[in-house]
Amino acid sequence: MVSPKLSPKLRCPQNSVPQTPMNFFVLCKPKRTKFKNATWDEGTVYDTKVCDICGHIYESYRSDLFITLENDRIGDIVWTWYGECVITQRVLDILKSNKLTGYYVKPVTITNIKTKSKRPNVLPPLWELIPNRSFPCDNKSGICVVKHCNTCGRKDYTPFIKGFSIDESIWDKSDLFSPKGYDNFVITTESVKNLFEESQISNCSFVPALDINKLFYSKEEIKRGYINNYKIKSSDELFEWCNKLVDNFEAFVDWDKKRGK
Ligand SMILES: [Zn+2]
Repeated sequence: MVSPKLSPKLRCPQNSVPQTPMNFFVLCKPKRTKFKNATWDEGTVYDTKVCDICGHIYESYRSDLFITLENDRIGDIVWTWYGECVITQRVLDILKSNKLTGYYVKPVTITNIKTKSKRPNVLPPLWELIPNRSFPCDNKSGICVVKHCNTCGRKDYTPFIKGFSIDESIWDKSDLFSPKGYDNFVITTESVKNLFEESQISNCSFVPALDINKLFYSKEEIKRGYINNYKIKSSDELFEWCNKLVDNFEAFVDWDKKRGK
């Protein structure tokens, strides 16, 4: 028996880039919330080092988080003032039972609760949620490396003035991840967003990754655009320029001097 030939249109080679772009979201603190942020406590130990070459001060070590809560009423997610995303055991159970990928957790210890209710809540175990992989934004986003120190490895990226537009050809289908250069952001797929909403996980919101710029930059900054500051005409041109300099910090300094900056 001769098997019917698939028409070229029906062939879907593996690893091909999907036709419809994925909708990605940034896991954020809600704009309005009754829950208070947590504060790092003394138990959180960290160490910093200074790079002799570029002067960058970087965190070389940080322990697990120890936090102070304002009161014993917490949502399913607790945000710290530094932006760490702390999840309750319930959220971790949901992540695990749905076999979500792209993250790890570290235990969080509550060392102090400033105001306790008359009938104090028994608080669940808390975990710091950390994406364990990051993927670059694509050409359209205009996000690329502008400075790279070969000594300490510091890379400075252009601002996300156009939001995070993820390069889907490189993304490994992880459910959670960070955009390269902005490791403190947690990006999720639309199905994770739907799962969180269906599970009524409180004290979080999902901002479309392409709109995250609106939370951090003014309308004027977005309109003007970072690219214009560098007098480069298009994001393609900026990307090409950055690629040339990505491994060469000295070349960047020379280029900057020539432009009289
Ligand atoms: Zn350095």
